[in-house]
Amino acid sequence: MNDESSANQSFRKTLSPEAYSVLREKATERPFSGKYNDFWDIGLYCCGACGAELFRSDAKFDAGCGWPSFFEPISDGSMKYQTDHELGWQTRTEVLCAKCDSHLGHVFDDGPKPTGKRYCMNSVALQFKSK
Ligand SMILES: [Zn+2]
Repeated sequence: MNDESSANQSFRKTLSPEAYSVLREKATERPFSGKYNDFWDIGLYCCGACGAELFRSDAKFDAGCGWPSFFEPISDGSMKYQTDHELGWQTRTEVLCAKCDSHLGHVFDDGPKPTGKRYCMNSVALQFKSK
């Protein structure tokens, strides 16, 4: 590993240890542990690190997987994708915030219509803003 980037040094000051480990070290929170897994208020879900808008609450659905799940992002440019070849896993597509490169979760192809996508996010990587 290289020296910690200056971005990570400042995120260490502003994020909780749990949020830091997910957003900046790509950890995954335990299923059914996150505050947004069973949460259905109307509003916007934003990046937990930089506040960029990521999902609308009306794109959230109950996937039963233990993490907050969405079938589409708020806009095409709001997130970035990266193939994840982590050992012991089949290939997954990692989802990152386009603005600050923080890890948010993964996207799978088993979501509901119309997109067929399931954005499986970590609650701790998101911050909710009510309408
Ligand atoms: Zn961000």
